[in-house]
Amino acid sequence: MKSILYGPVPSWRLGRSLGVDIVSTKGKTCSFDCIYCQLGRTVHPLTERREFVSMAQLAQKLESVKNIAVDYVTFSGVAEPTLASNLGQAIELVKSVLGLPVAVLTNSSLMLREDVRRELGRADVVVAKVDAPNEELFHQINRPKVSCTLGEIIQAIKLFRVEYQGKLALQMMFVEANRTCASEMARLAKELLPDEVQINTPLRPCAVKPLSLEQIIAIRQEFSGLRGVVTVYEASRPEVTPLSLKETLRRRPEL
Ligand code: SF4
Repeated sequence: MKSILYGPVPSWRLGRSLGVDIVSTKGKTCSFDCIYCQLGRTVHPLTERREFVSMAQLAQKLESVKNIAVDYVTFSGVAEPTLASNLGQAIELVKSVLGLPVAVLTNSSLMLREDVRRELGRADVVVAKVDAPNEELFHQINRPKVSCTLGEIIQAIKLFRVEYQGKLALQMMFVEANRTCASEMARLAKELLPDEVQINTPLRPCAVKPLSLEQIIAIRQEFSGLRGVVTVYEASRPEVTPLSLKETLRRRPEL
């Protein structure tokens, strides 16, 4: 049977986070193939939604962690969670069984779909990825498998912002390719009206080098007019003990 749950992991954004991998494929299933992905290259490029894990399978797994002490249950894993056509049902199930706040980490690429926005709307926190200020860098950094443009994704996030009552965080990953675009990225963030902006750089092992603390501090200064700006270097991480180290390391190669 698929493992589905992993962690808890120490998240610099969400504290003690129990992971739900609602796709749970053997290799990475994603609509992007980001140059900095800690999971390596996308093995299963996918842009259409389908069911990977049944609600009965998820319910059984959730029963076994009923009293777990975590801050968030987070939909992430070895895939883009909005590719699961039953994401909305899964969020409701987690809430009813565990009674904990739910976060979804998404690459934003399926937010053009009304059903995806509606299902994401059931989460308490949505962390939406935006790494590029223009189409060229979007293709260079995220290597999308979807046919839509960055402009269309940005419009979809704006629409979601209007509809969504929960906390919307933007995750912006900075690497050498977009290092000098911080002011454009900050302008974009201002347009999207997030509750939080997470300035990240890939500190975990991957194919590209992270930016230094000094470079991230310089980038942060461009975001000075925005509320809730946090950076990966300044955040603290709680102590956690994963349920299964093997299943956790498969989704998070370095805790
Ligand atoms: S969207 Fe996330 S999982 Fe997909 S390739 Fe990018 S970093 Fe990896």
